[in-house]
Amino acid sequence: MDAAASPSHAHFLDTHCHVDLYPDPAALLRQIEQQRIYTVAVTNTPSVFSRLCDMVGTGRYVRPALGLHPELAVQRHRELPQFATLLPRTRYVGEVGLDYQTGVESERATQRRVFASIVEQCNSAGGKVVTVHSRRAADDVVDAFGAGFRGTYILHWYSGGVRALRRALSNGAFISVNPAMMRSDRGRALVAEVPRARVLTETDGPFVTMGSAAVPTAATPADVRGVVVELGLLWGVDPAEARDIVYGNFASMLTTSRTS
Ligand code: MN
Repeated sequence: MDAAASPSHAHFLDTHCHVDLYPDPAALLRQIEQQRIYTVAVTNTPSVFSRLCDMVGTGRYVRPALGLHPELAVQRHRELPQFATLLPRTRYVGEVGLDYQTGVESERATQRRVFASIVEQCNSAGGKVVTVHSRRAADDVVDAFGAGFRGTYILHWYSGGVRALRRALSNGAFISVNPAMMRSDRGRALVAEVPRARVLTETDGPFVTMGSAAVPTAATPADVRGVVVELGLLWGVDPAEARDIVYGNFASMLTTSRTS
């Protein structure tokens, strides 16, 4: 994503979308290119990364991310060597993280082992942009990165406590905000805690849905437009300025992400 950071060239941004999990990924990829929404296409296991890269092809607006989702860590931890092999192929990593929805301690321990290895690999490589899941595990996620991580991490769909959030922010983290967060009072309250220079947008499609509860439709990257409108209301700026702020945050993050 090397487009000019000038606001007049600003674009919409989706830093967390599961492009490969839509019924018709090729159609979604065409939409993304037509609508020019920069999209980080996250994956849930290393074994699907190469196929995603093939699907994306020469698209300008999509960046494939290498992931190993915490809820698949128990089943897929044997793909860690494959993760290491593929990591040099991309600057973007996700979906990774911890999910303590499971109360089974051995499963949490496996998640921590997998995630610690991923953070260590990214730290060694330097300059990676990591989109991170932290449900019920915010403190351990923030601890895993620590203060000296040689890259940037984005807390995706953050739902943890304010203290862990502030700790992450003081360590240089960003957060990515999706439509579901902006629909909830608690989500909006968390976003209000974050300096606007650290806010990015995402959809987490197709998991986040739009429309009514009776007739839900999967969010697509175009739905970041609504998030930008909500951010504008929160910040007291018009939607175009909110879009420019978010895109500028991403552009400067790519420039300053530590590589050494
Ligand atoms: Mn996700």
